[in-house]
Amino acid sequence: MSIIIMVGPQGSGKGTQADLLAQRLKIPHINMGGLLRAEVAAGSDLGRQISAIMAAGELVPTDVASQVLKRRLENDDAQGGVVFDGFPRNMEQDRSLEKILSQLGKKIEHVIYLNLPDAAALERLAGRRVCTNHACETNYHIEFNPPRVPDKCDRCGSPLVQRHDDTPEVINKRLAVYHAETKPLIELYSQRGLVREIDASQSIAKVADDIKQATATW
Ligand code: AMP
Repeated sequence: MSIIIMVGPQGSGKGTQADLLAQRLKIPHINMGGLLRAEVAAGSDLGRQISAIMAAGELVPTDVASQVLKRRLENDDAQGGVVFDGFPRNMEQDRSLEKILSQLGKKIEHVIYLNLPDAAALERLAGRRVCTNHACETNYHIEFNPPRVPDKCDRCGSPLVQRHDDTPEVINKRLAVYHAETKPLIELYSQRGLVREIDASQSIAKVADDIKQATATW
C-alpha cells in the first residue's frame, strides 16, 4: 500500500505527474482542488459555501476539505493506496490527514516535492487549459503540452477552458498562500525523512523520468 503526497507550487505539474505516477502504481490520483470544484459544479450545499473562497484563491476550511477527502478515501479503489495532489496544504491539514489515515489504519509513506520558481509557475499557469469534464480534469499547456485537437481534451473530447482562478491576480494570491502555509510542510516531512525533491522546471517527460527513478523501489 502506498500513501503518496505530491507537494509543489501551482503550475509545478502536480496534477500531471500525480496522474502518471498513479497510473504506473495502479492506484487512484486524488486531486483535492478537483474534488472541491466538482462540489461547486454540482451545486451542493457544501459547493455553495466554498465557491467564493475558491474564486478568491484562498483555502477552504480544513474541516470542509477533510470531509470531502475522507469520503473519497473510503471508496474501494483507494484501499490499495493513493497519490494525493493538493492535500494537505498546511499544518492543520497535515494533522487532519494523519487522523483520517490512522482511523483507516494508514499513514503517509512518501512525499514528492516538485520544486519550481514562482516566475516559471506564473508563466505555466497563464498558458494552462483544463478539461471541463470534472471526472477527467486533464491539464494541458498551449505551448508545452497542447491537446491533439485545439481546445479539445485528448482523453474525453470535452472542451478545454482557462480556469477562473488562473488570472495573474488570483495566481499571485495562491502562490502567496503556498509560500506561507504549504512550504513549511516540506520542512516537516523532510525532518521525517519522507521527501524526494524533483526539479519541476524540466519537461513533463524528464520530470516523470526523475520521479520514476526516485520511486523505483515503491
Ligand atoms: P488547485 O486546483 O489545487 O489549484 O486548487 C484550487 C482551489 O481549491 C484552491 O485555490 C483552494 O481554494 C481550493 N483547495 C484546493 N485544495 C485545497 C485544500 N487542501 N484545502 C483548502 N482548499 C483547497
